[in-house]
Amino acid sequence: MLGEIKGLNEECGIFGVFNHPESAQLTYYGLHALQHRGQEGAGIVTSDGDHMKVAKGHGLISEVFPQDRLDDLEGNASIGHVRYATAGDGSYENIQPLMFRSQTGGLALAHNGNLVNAQALKSQLEAQGSILQTTSDTEVVAHLIKRAGHLPMDQAISQALSMIKGAYAFLMMTEEKMYVANDPRGLRPISIGYLGDAWCVSSETCAFDVIGATYEREVMPGELLIIDKNGIESQRFSAPIQRTLCSMEYVYFSRPDSNLDGKNVHASRKRMGKTLAAEAPVEADVVTGVPDSSISAAIGYAEASGIPYELGLIKNRYVGRTFIQPSQELREQGVKMKLSAVRGIVEGKRVVMVDDSIVRGTTSRRIVKMLKEAGAKEVHVRIASPPIQNPCYYGIDTSTSGELIAANNTVEEIEEQIGADSLSYLTVEGLNDAIYQGEESLNHGGCAACFTGNYPTEIYPNTVPPYEKA
Ligand code: SF4
Repeated sequence: MLGEIKGLNEECGIFGVFNHPESAQLTYYGLHALQHRGQEGAGIVTSDGDHMKVAKGHGLISEVFPQDRLDDLEGNASIGHVRYATAGDGSYENIQPLMFRSQTGGLALAHNGNLVNAQALKSQLEAQGSILQTTSDTEVVAHLIKRAGHLPMDQAISQALSMIKGAYAFLMMTEEKMYVANDPRGLRPISIGYLGDAWCVSSETCAFDVIGATYEREVMPGELLIIDKNGIESQRFSAPIQRTLCSMEYVYFSRPDSNLDGKNVHASRKRMGKTLAAEAPVEADVVTGVPDSSISAAIGYAEASGIPYELGLIKNRYVGRTFIQPSQELREQGVKMKLSAVRGIVEGKRVVMVDDSIVRGTTSRRIVKMLKEAGAKEVHVRIASPPIQNPCYYGIDTSTSGELIAANNTVEEIEEQIGADSLSYLTVEGLNDAIYQGEESLNHGGCAACFTGNYPTEIYPNTVPPYEKA
């Protein structure tokens, strides 16, 4: 993945296990499989039925949890979180799960997504005397739950969830129970599975495969699941609305071996490539994909066009996180260190370079240059998603509008700026067809707001994209 240098980042991944003696170890493995969703902080909270323990820190899951620290996390239930820290919120307090203790017991919360009315709720809570300790939206939810403390916990959570708006998959835990919730539009993915008698919860299904668990189903939009020693109970805190799962999960974020809404991500990306070949054909000798996330779309483009797929670009797997750098200069250096063009494949050839998206344009310009320096006669860039023209308010760092190259330039201008011989993007219709294949169901049509500007929820005047929060 080149997200960290491309300027496209997922906010988080969440994973939990209930009723397993090695719940913390399994949660560690689950979070490891979700590491691509966030590399800057990780945490695990465990419960032995009476007491809860929390451990968290900055860095990769393997850096935060050496074996002795993991061994210390006893208990049959665990929830965990990996996160990408947005500007200004990289402090230790913001690393999740957040843990709150009171006389009535503990509550741990892990959240993937972003709330669009968090600012309004924070002002309201502060005006009523609450003292917020973090800049995270997640804490707002904890306060709302606490304020409904006179109710049984499931009702208090439902009441809190009915007050928040935006994108959220929540995993919460008390000493005795685990709670899982998906927002009324199901913007972020969250699924449940089982391993023997244990229940598992994950942002992506690939983590179930890693621990040998069996996928059961997705948590439905507006559903609250309560897991305890008696089993699992489903409640609704919101009436079902048409699901608008984030299209970028299919395009870029999720692992190719995950399934979203029953559809395999690799197969969906291949269909995007095939549709792109039909929408934007070109005379060429080889098709190559930008590793890793664009390989599936490149294979699809090659299959549909009849132009052979070749390994024109290879990734250096041993470049560390040093290259997750905020400055433009270091980002550019990062591209060079991470990728190489294969001269023996591209020299003297007309190359179709398939990429999943263009954010700032810096990465594309570098790769086109790299291919030409390796002797490519022509480089035709084909993007397996529509132009990103709008910020995301739902938990994806797409950069500010000012930095988005497609928000400020025509396709022809971008083509010139990145030095391509031609440039074409997948259309919004093509993207929807590739993902949903004409499915007529409640699930038809995901969120595509960063391409279209049609946000599936209301956006408040003071709604701030997560990466612009101070
Ligand atoms: S705006 Fe884009 S990135 Fe954000 S949830 Fe919608 S599709 Fe996903």
